[in-house]
Amino acid sequence: MYPFAYLKVDSEDAAVAALCAGGRPIAGGTTLVDLMREEVERPETLVDIAALPLRQIATTPGGGVLIGALVTMTQAASDAFVRTSFPVVSQALESSASAQLRNMATIGGNLMQRTRCTYFRDLSAACNKREPGSGCAAREGFNRTHAILGASAACVATHPSDLAVALVALNASVHLRGPDGRRQLTVQDFLLPPSDTPQLEQALQRGELITAVEIPAPPRPLRSGYLKVRDRQSFEFALTSAAVALSVRGGVIRSAMIAAAGVGTVPWRLGAVERQLVGQRPSTELWQRAAVHAADGAEPLRHNGFKVGLLRRTVERQLRVVGEPG
Ligand code: SF4
Repeated sequence: MYPFAYLKVDSEDAAVAALCAGGRPIAGGTTLVDLMREEVERPETLVDIAALPLRQIATTPGGGVLIGALVTMTQAASDAFVRTSFPVVSQALESSASAQLRNMATIGGNLMQRTRCTYFRDLSAACNKREPGSGCAAREGFNRTHAILGASAACVATHPSDLAVALVALNASVHLRGPDGRRQLTVQDFLLPPSDTPQLEQALQRGELITAVEIPAPPRPLRSGYLKVRDRQSFEFALTSAAVALSVRGGVIRSAMIAAAGVGTVPWRLGAVERQLVGQRPSTELWQRAAVHAADGAEPLRHNGFKVGLLRRTVERQLRVVGEPG
């Protein structure tokens, strides 16, 4: 490990000042420490924000929830209000990483985690995300786990977070605090597609800090759930997934909010599927007809063409689970 400075802060003002000076925030440390050990990342100063008072979960008017950035994945997943109002969030969290990691990793850190593309962590491989302009080893390399949606010539890595997919489906936003004050961005706008600058993964300005994640009041009633398909049952990233939230009143689907992981360079909102569902009556035939559109626009690489059919089947199955309560 190379030498670096460590600074512990106990207020948002002190954190923002340290970040403005070029420091990198660290809380649970479950991604950044690994990357520093491998020298994929070499921050000169770590700003330890773990003591900031950002560990509350609070309901908001109308039935939304505000989750502090330092709430751990375990805490959020086990919160009674989150579990009953937004099962898609607790299920996405519980399908992530391992129990040990979920006890340390924070909600803010989850949205800041970097890609799991193996070439990104291999210092001998070309990687535009690690070293802009060096190339992309995955494009012509082994790309079974890479993206079929949202890729650019510069990068084809998938976004690794399950939580972010559930948050995108629910139109959640991040609360940010920076040198110019506070602002709010939807999670969808906060996470950046690679375009020609894959090294930029979040729409953070210099000195900005995530303080909370807000899930707005949803349409009622709402049923939701998360299905993750992966190579093994724990401690594994998604090949495909489906975050599904449906509001059905009077036997008609009034609102459909659906997103997928494991297939896009960012959490992928499935607007074409949603449009097939709204205004229709739930049925097995409807789930099939809508799920056909899950991979609209997909551009598979040499080794990941299987994701097109797998994504359609994942979405169809989860529509059935959420839309046809037993
Ligand atoms: Fe790097 Fe992205 Fe290519 Fe992976 S897919 S090697 S992260 S540029």
